[in-house]
Amino acid sequence: MSTSHELYQLPYSFDALEPYIDAQTMEIHYTKHHQAYLDNFKKVTKKYEELQNKTAEEMLRDLNNLNVNEEDRTSLKNHGGGFINHNIYWSIINPEKQIDENLIKNIESTFGSVETFKDLFNTTATKHFGSGWTWLVRDEEKQLKVYSLPNQDSPITLRHEPILALDLWEHAYYLKYKNKRTEYIENWWGIIKLI
Ligand code: MN
Repeated sequence: MSTSHELYQLPYSFDALEPYIDAQTMEIHYTKHHQAYLDNFKKVTKKYEELQNKTAEEMLRDLNNLNVNEEDRTSLKNHGGGFINHNIYWSIINPEKQIDENLIKNIESTFGSVETFKDLFNTTATKHFGSGWTWLVRDEEKQLKVYSLPNQDSPITLRHEPILALDLWEHAYYLKYKNKRTEYIENWWGIIKLI
């Protein structure tokens, strides 16, 4: 039996994140960029019998042990990561999403306060050079961590559980924010309501 890989079905409209993320960006991001990651990911997985029964998450988790050639391993990292990272992202930026009270408490005890955490997250995102993502994750010891990863590298490959994800690729903000990445990063908190 083969595992099917499907786009996360958006439970909100493309304009639901206005004015923080504009409808046109959302539509192109979802229907073009995300779709392309999925299509390219499927092209690679089709080549290997042993990948037929694995989920995309399993492939990312075992990325370095998969019995595939190095070029395809890189493709799985880039396109499988692009596919999964965006699935996580659409779910996190759902305007109806309620942030769990325990997460807030955990953020406060780990970083001192929500504001300190947001400053750290924003600085980490602002300092990241080039394409990539900034993440809040739980590591293997269940500790909260903030870091950026380049390109479509996924915390799942590090065996970390993604909690928050901010897409730093220009396709995520350029139509509205142009070169003002910092403004996009700050406005993103209008969607993620921690307090
Ligand atoms: Mn993206």
